Amino acid sequence: MQPEEKFNKTIQTKLPETDFRAHLRETSSQMNLKREAAKKLFGNYELARLRASYTKWKVNESLDKFLIDFEASVVRKGGKVIWAYDVQNAQQEILQIAQKHTKGKVVYSRSAVSDEIELKSFFDSKSIPLKALDFGDFILNESGTDFFTENTPLLSADVQQVRNQLNQSIRVSMDAEVADIAADIRHSIRKNFYQAELAITGATFLVAEGGLVVQSENSAAARMSYAFAKTHLVVAGIDQLLPSLNELDLFTTLYATQKTGENLQSYLTITSPTERDDIDGPSEFIVLLLDNGRSNVLASQDQRQALSCIECGACNDVCQVFNYIGGSKNYLNNQAGPISQVVKPLKSGLAEYGFLSEHSTLCGKCTDVCPLKIDIHNHLIRNRRDAISEGVIDTAERFTWFSWSKLMLSRKNMNRQSSLRNFTFKSFFRKQWGEERELPKIAEKTFNQIWRERNGL
Ligand code: SF4
Repeated sequence: MQPEEKFNKTIQTKLPETDFRAHLRETSSQMNLKREAAKKLFGNYELARLRASYTKWKVNESLDKFLIDFEASVVRKGGKVIWAYDVQNAQQEILQIAQKHTKGKVVYSRSAVSDEIELKSFFDSKSIPLKALDFGDFILNESGTDFFTENTPLLSADVQQVRNQLNQSIRVSMDAEVADIAADIRHSIRKNFYQAELAITGATFLVAEGGLVVQSENSAAARMSYAFAKTHLVVAGIDQLLPSLNELDLFTTLYATQKTGENLQSYLTITSPTERDDIDGPSEFIVLLLDNGRSNVLASQDQRQALSCIECGACNDVCQVFNYIGGSKNYLNNQAGPISQVVKPLKSGLAEYGFLSEHSTLCGKCTDVCPLKIDIHNHLIRNRRDAISEGVIDTAERFTWFSWSKLMLSRKNMNRQSSLRNFTFKSFFRKQWGEERELPKIAEKTFNQIWRERNGL
């Protein structure tokens, strides 16, 4: 199935699900309130946004230099950096690492990049068990439920379904209360954590100076995962860099404010390869840096600002489209919402994914809330512009707009009978408008006709 067809199908399934939508809206509005409260604790929030956006602009403009600095620092401390060009390349590199670790378990804490490289389904396809250490992800993996929002992944989980599935996988009793289910899950997670040999985590930020990996989280799953593991593998995007530790206080507070509406998340870990004097920690430290189309975004001078995203999710919660359809899987990406609609077509090609940029009201709320001041709605317009100039819109759409403009630019046609105008309107827009909604009716008389009548012209 083509991406556009898949996307349209998802919308058709999601639109009638009123309960799901109500949950989604409730969660989004709660999150927005928490964010507003957390913002008040900044002395000057606008200045913080400005400083952060300037820092990321500097990084994007010299990304090659910062990446080399990061690699050199990791290698100097005894770690290793792997460059992965695309998803398949990343999967093969990770597979080779996993195949060297067969004595213990492979555990992971889910991140945007682990979703992007489809880590869980790739391991399943190779029959290598991959255990989630995050509570929510553990439930979703074991119960086979899909997640619909990144910040609240259990939103769509059905307790009875979870109970049934966990009964088979970790022997949760069929009459267990929610608290008992939670205790059983914790017990299983701990077992996996003690037996971990390879831990795969994401990163919230990478710091070029010193080759550091920063993880900001509330569950401690990332921190916990490599406490006992021999090897810590970090999967991150090449766009996650900060120049030095000096910027970390600004970015971790902005991230926490917009991600979960807090001033700092519960666990902030800064890690790097274990050094000679360290008494514990993984003996092997590897960072896999993923490109997967980010270079295409970087190559576009007027769009590269999109790489500044820190994946806080604030633009999702204010977006009307997101509040109808939910999380990243529905956007055919590892990210959801308006920023995904900008970046996915740039990364994977306007021809296949340009349609994503069309699904927006362009209200600009996403731009207003973005802590990095990314001009999201104008980037959507730029994608639309480029899709037209690259000729990737289909013939039917081209013909529709050609005929529509011919019609609208002719006063004689405009003043024809309203039934004819309604017929033309329906013929052009019925499909795009969808069967679920009534097309608005065009008024019987145009403004021009009313004006002429009133003035006896
Ligand atoms: S683009 Fe969206 S997810 Fe990214 S930093 Fe801005 S508000 Fe957050």
